[in-house]
Amino acid sequence: MPRDEATINAEMAKLQAKYHEESGTFTAAKAKSYGDGLKSLRAEISDLISEGAEPCPACKNKPHGMLKTPATDKAPAKYEVGCLNCPGGRRAQGWSRSEAVAAWNKLPKA
Ligand SMILES: [Zn+2]
Repeated sequence: MPRDEATINAEMAKLQAKYHEESGTFTAAKAKSYGDGLKSLRAEISDLISEGAEPCPACKNKPHGMLKTPATDKAPAKYEVGCLNCPGGRRAQGWSRSEAVAAWNKLPKA
């Protein structure tokens, strides 16, 4: 069973806090281990958000899922599913994960 967003986000926040705490005393190996840890948590959350999304029709890549947090807290965050591989950025948004995935799957294929 996949972990939920809150669990993954909490783990990411913990790792980032630790990173900042220790950033003055980094060895290259330690910096890499933090980088790898964050990368894998970001991939996990992307997989969760883009679950059910069809591959990009242009390049067949698996689309990336993310929660877009607006610059001001006046606007609510939106989910986005998009292709990071295609220039021009084919993407779709929704208020929920499933809305964003449905919008992505409904994009014109050409
Ligand atoms: Zn693509």
